[in-house]
Amino acid sequence: MSAQLIDGKSISADIRNELKHRIADLNKRGIIPGLGVILVGDDPASKSYVAAKERACESIGIYSDDNRYSSKITENDLLDKIESLNNDPKIHGILVQLPLPSHINSTLVLNAITPDKDVDGFHPVNVGKMMIGEDSFLPCTPHGIIQLLKRCNIETKGKHAVVIGRSNIVGKPIANMLFQKNMDTNATVTICHTSTNNLKDFTRNADIIIAASGQPNTLTSDMVKPGVVIIDVGVNRVEDLSKKNGFRLVGDVDFNGLFDIASAITPVPGGVGPMTITMLLYNTVKSAEKLIERNVQ
Ligand code: NAP
Repeated sequence: MSAQLIDGKSISADIRNELKHRIADLNKRGIIPGLGVILVGDDPASKSYVAAKERACESIGIYSDDNRYSSKITENDLLDKIESLNNDPKIHGILVQLPLPSHINSTLVLNAITPDKDVDGFHPVNVGKMMIGEDSFLPCTPHGIIQLLKRCNIETKGKHAVVIGRSNIVGKPIANMLFQKNMDTNATVTICHTSTNNLKDFTRNADIIIAASGQPNTLTSDMVKPGVVIIDVGVNRVEDLSKKNGFRLVGDVDFNGLFDIASAITPVPGGVGPMTITMLLYNTVKSAEKLIERNVQ
């Protein structure tokens, strides 16, 4: 048996097309969805993530308001900028690219974003709403995973999902989304981490595995049962001297070893990765639509 390849690029393109239609409807009502982007410092990876997010916005008709600051910006000046974006009617979502310089308290800054414009879904209000099953901005990477599963018709109800990793941005939220009744996921979920004894005792009993450990080869062929669905969130650079840049990207699972055992698997790159930015666009459009709802009420 060889696995169904879960094509994040194509699913992401489908969602972006759906968003274009929703944006056209917003435009008819005089609204252009706007994303305020804040980048502090010169970190090359952060610059390239921000550029990719802004390109994606432009490609579907979201206005992006680019705010770049030197790494010497004070915490107060950054908080003032967030306050002005919170109050700017042209802005429906606010994104602060992490990491921030060490003299700035990232939690304080992220929590200063009004929950109504928290399109990353990191604000405790949105995290809490997600937890209790209320409508909220869902964090982008885990929401992208749910979309991959749903759009590939992979049943989660009644399945045993094992999540490897418990970070606030991936592990905890995806575990939470997978067992929700209101999202119609309804899985039984086990969360594993570095203090889990004998990881394979859990993964061997899994119908669905979400690997978000940040370590290549965390999951290998001896650790799963045939037919398992594998979602590989990891993005790791490993040395590869055959490549011009000297490295290649791999996920957290042994893709080649698992491909013939799994029933479905995401590639890296081209699986979860493309979904993350797409769900940021999704949240920005949703926020603009909610503004209309609020104005109508
Ligand atoms: P993180 O903050 O480093 O968290 C990793 C988690 O995995 C931790 O909870 C850690 O446990 C656990 N872990 C590490 N090694 C393990 C092992 N051998 N067995 C069991 N658990 C283990 O990472 P993250 O931010 O969640 O990201 C995870 C991966 O996803 C990274 O490769 C990252 O680059 C990637 N990522 C991709 C996207 C995307 O858009 N494609 C988005 C976000 C993240 P402890 O809590 O015990 O330390």
